[in-house]
Amino acid sequence: MPNNCCPDIRTSGRQRPVLDFGSLLLATALSGACLSGTLVAIWVTARQARFVLTMAVGILLLVTHVIAFWLYGRDPAPWLGQATLALLVGGFFVVFMSADQYIERGWAKRAVLPVTGVIGLTTVVTGAGFDGLGFAIAYSAITAILVMTAAAFWTARNVDRRTLAPVSLLAGSSAVSFALCAFVIIQQRQWVLAGVPRNWAEDVNTVVVVACMTALGALTISFHHLRTQSRLQEETLTDPLTGLMNRRALNALYGSTRFGSGMALAMLDLDHFKRTNDVFGHAVGDMVLQRFADVMKKHSRSGVKGFRLGGEEFAIVMSDILAPEVHDILRSVGADFGADIVPTRLGPLRSTVSIGICFGDDDAMTLEQVLLGADAALYAAKRAGRNRVATAETADSEAFREPQPLFA
Ligand code: GH3
Ligand code: MG
Ligand code: MG
Repeated sequence: MPNNCCPDIRTSGRQRPVLDFGSLLLATALSGACLSGTLVAIWVTARQARFVLTMAVGILLLVTHVIAFWLYGRDPAPWLGQATLALLVGGFFVVFMSADQYIERGWAKRAVLPVTGVIGLTTVVTGAGFDGLGFAIAYSAITAILVMTAAAFWTARNVDRRTLAPVSLLAGSSAVSFALCAFVIIQQRQWVLAGVPRNWAEDVNTVVVVACMTALGALTISFHHLRTQSRLQEETLTDPLTGLMNRRALNALYGSTRFGSGMALAMLDLDHFKRTNDVFGHAVGDMVLQRFADVMKKHSRSGVKGFRLGGEEFAIVMSDILAPEVHDILRSVGADFGADIVPTRLGPLRSTVSIGICFGDDDAMTLEQVLLGADAALYAAKRAGRNRVATAETADSEAFREPQPLFA
């Protein structure tokens, strides 16, 4: 006897698959909305990371697109088609803007006009009934936006190179997927659809976009963490008063270096600096430290790096350099600083510096050894009357070449 009261479970299962296209789209929209909310929450605690907020807006636009796309599949009203395409192109453009803000490229500004043009064009052709053509144009534009995103990352200097592989994979696979969608519509000449495109490329694209949306959000969070991490690292290695690298940076950069011939380390200590503070005040003292750091920066270049070790003590590490050049640089630092006049309420203030140099040798010395040698030479320069440069004969000897006056 046929069972009329209860539906056959197997038949019902076949007629209503567990996950149909509509459910998939709505699930995507829901997860995208959650992702967008998470990004906004992160931005609230780190307002300077504007790219996180921009990505949240981009994802939200794409989520709205997914809902509009779903609705347009059920009710092909022209305005829904126009909104679907405008949200799609706009959403991907805002995602690109976020990437552009992150890598500080400035490409997005130049793309505003072409993207507005594309949105206008899709609106016109879809309004005229050629929604298939509208989809083909939108998909082609998104392919271009994604290629631009990948190119901007590849050519950027200020991004962690480890992020390049996931970004290229994400942008590359999405670009291919959208290019295929455009290709199928163009190849089949489906200029009029009166609904959403339905073909194999579209199915592939749905899966790719679901994966990309999730990955985009996750990547944005990890970009934010990477940037915060590198800013913190930069801060821990930088002296806030002078902007020079600090002692921790010196250890990080040269802690395991062997100072062979062709390398030198100089220690520099301002003369009678306590008196400067006592007579002119701590604020003037700070200004003198900053002016000295500026002189050091002026003489820094590749292979000549300056550090503030603490207080009024500084160091310069020189690599791939010959002795006469080392002396020239340090004499210039001493002379330039000596000639620098700081205006104060008590009148003009001039300061001087004493310098101790230790050269690396064939036995290759450690950082600790050259610091000791330079410090001993510095002490000799102070004893000889200050405003002098002295050179350690070797790191562990007490012999110094006659300290030379710096600023006359
Ligand atoms: P010398 O010629 O022998 O080097 O004598 P000095 O007075 O320069 O050396 P001393 O070590 O006696 O004094 C260093 C002073 O530097 C003492 C300290 O108050 C001051 N100082 C350390 N750090 C800072 C800073 O960040 N700002 C200012 N204004 N002063 C500082
Ligand atoms: Mg001093
Ligand atoms: Mg000192």
